[in-house]
Amino acid sequence: MSKDYRCPRCEAVLNPDRSVILVAAHGPTRALIGFHPEPGNYEVYLPPGVAAEQGSRWDFSCPLCHADLAAAENEDLCELELREDDATSRLLFSRIAGEQATFVLREDHVEQAHGSDAVRFDPIWAQLKYIRI
Ligand SMILES: [Zn+2]
Repeated sequence: MSKDYRCPRCEAVLNPDRSVILVAAHGPTRALIGFHPEPGNYEVYLPPGVAAEQGSRWDFSCPLCHADLAAAENEDLCELELREDDATSRLLFSRIAGEQATFVLREDHVEQAHGSDAVRFDPIWAQLKYIRI
């Protein structure tokens, strides 16, 4: 089953090859960062010379239209559109370096929650049907 990650604004595919490529910025640092396309795999591909200090908060944007990918639900989450076959979901991930929390939301429920830090975000899903896997 193939996964297409898209910008929620311009719908550009952000994983043309293996990793999901986003513009990341923190202070004076600005770089393209690659993420593993499997939710719950926290392998990150940083360019040479770029380091992400644990606990630092990063801004992520679309490499094509430069849309800010911040999620409305929580200031520590960013979002992408995820298309698998015919299904479209929202993929929310923590923008804090080293924090492992990823959510797949479909319509009005949390379909998947991944990562050892996901529980920190429990309060924001209070209004949604929550299924932990
Ligand atoms: Zn875009």
